[in-house]
Amino acid sequence: KGIERLNDQQVEEFVQKNIILTSLDAVFNWARGRSLWPLSSGLACCAIEMMATGASRFDMARFGYEVFRPSPRQADVVIVAGTLTWKMAPAMKRVYEQMAEPKWVIAMGACACTGGPFNESYAVVPGVDKILPVDVYIPGCPPRPEALLDGMLKLKEKIQDPSKARVKHG
Ligand code: SF4
Repeated sequence: KGIERLNDQQVEEFVQKNIILTSLDAVFNWARGRSLWPLSSGLACCAIEMMATGASRFDMARFGYEVFRPSPRQADVVIVAGTLTWKMAPAMKRVYEQMAEPKWVIAMGACACTGGPFNESYAVVPGVDKILPVDVYIPGCPPRPEALLDGMLKLKEKIQDPSKARVKHG
């Protein structure tokens, strides 16, 4: 039957099955994985390593990831670099919510992954995945810049392979 006779739901199903749109998704994901714009979100000492990753010695720019943005409206990945306290958690969540889809989260360092050396403190969130959907975890206290670059490249693989896409929280 002609597309003009389909109802809205049938049109949506038709569009989702359309092979050209699927191919465009692959092209978009190819580009997204190579031009991630991280949000400036250093919370503690891990942020020093994140800054080093962006500087000339480690040269994050060679992968297309150098454009750190101070505004969540312009960023598509948040690298949580450091210790997240419960007091800071609502602000972190709000900033994440202000980012446009598609968006991703990297937990950089032991504190962001699990609370690190402070995981028994009443003041520290024992892992940012308690409040945000984390895509990539990078262990270390702190992780070296090479580890952050490796985490960014892992995220690139995940963006390009939909079977590795995260399950969204809530
Ligand atoms: Fe600092 Fe270690 Fe925590 Fe990173 S993981 S913020 S280096 S205490």
